[in-house]
Amino acid sequence: MSVFLFLCYNTLGDENMKIIDGKKISEKVLEEVKTDIEKFKLKKITPTLAIILVGNDTASKVYVKNKTIACQKVGVDCQEYFLDQNTSEEELINLIDKLNKDDLVHGILLQSPVPKHINIDNVFEKINPLKDVDGFNPINYGKLLIGKENLTSCTSLGIVRLLEEENIEIRGKNVVIIGRSNIVSKPLSLCMLNRDATITICHSKTVDLKEHTKTADILISAVGKPAFVTSDMVKDGAVVIDVGINRLKDGTLCGDVDFEKVKNKCSYITKVPGGVGPMTVAYLMKNVVKAINLQL
Ligand code: NAP
Repeated sequence: MSVFLFLCYNTLGDENMKIIDGKKISEKVLEEVKTDIEKFKLKKITPTLAIILVGNDTASKVYVKNKTIACQKVGVDCQEYFLDQNTSEEELINLIDKLNKDDLVHGILLQSPVPKHINIDNVFEKINPLKDVDGFNPINYGKLLIGKENLTSCTSLGIVRLLEEENIEIRGKNVVIIGRSNIVSKPLSLCMLNRDATITICHSKTVDLKEHTKTADILISAVGKPAFVTSDMVKDGAVVIDVGINRLKDGTLCGDVDFEKVKNKCSYITKVPGGVGPMTVAYLMKNVVKAINLQL
């Protein structure tokens, strides 16, 4: 009997766990965007997003491709700028200036990473905050910081929507985020704080990571290392959100979470691929709509 109770307590089992289907939810979001875009078209507005990629990073090319496919699906015109690896910071800023001034362009996205000789923060600063669909301009970052979300990071908003769709409460919950990058984890932590979560941000210098992660009602990993989150790091019944995208030697994609082992311990979990990734793209499209409304 005691062994039975121990097993019940320590493993929730597959039947009590739900995989959050990011692909399906992203399709719902894209349908919402499509309706908004149709309304703009009736007003003779052609929603237009400019995507800039500097260099030849293979993963970035795939991400840009996915974003252009989403644009096609919802009816956003996409201008792609593939710049040479040796493009200078000044040349890149000149292009941004040109797009800022172009009234026909509503959103500007600079795909990261950029080559090392370019200071990406300098460039983000130059994107018109009203066209900053990634929310990385310091003005939009500052608004997020003071709780006045405007154009906010697509990955963060996508994760919030995943939780909302599953009726997972954020308010009052212990949210532990592994990672502190400017691009993913910091805006995400602010989004969670703005929704009344108690947040813990962990990073490579965190002492005794597991002690922190085990306190999480909602554990979010954005590290970029396969099988980094193991089952002993997860509290029974936790919600686990995997932001990581890693390509294995055989070419397959995986996240940061040791999915097969962790899934038995949690109440909800996302998969890679098919979890956060499609939501990031869908919320980019939402941000294009938001940007147009800000510019009207
Ligand atoms: P990043 O800038 O490399 O940040 C990784 C973070 O992980 C850093 O803060 C780092 O800590 C932390 N870290 C590394 N090793 C650690 C350890 N042993 N213990 C605890 N923390 C550790 O990466 P990113 O841009 O945030 O992206 C993270 C992952 O998300 C990547 O796999 C990326 O491809 C993926 N991503 C996914 C989406 C999506 O839509 N699904 C969007 C963007 C990015 P330090 O700061 O101390 O170095």
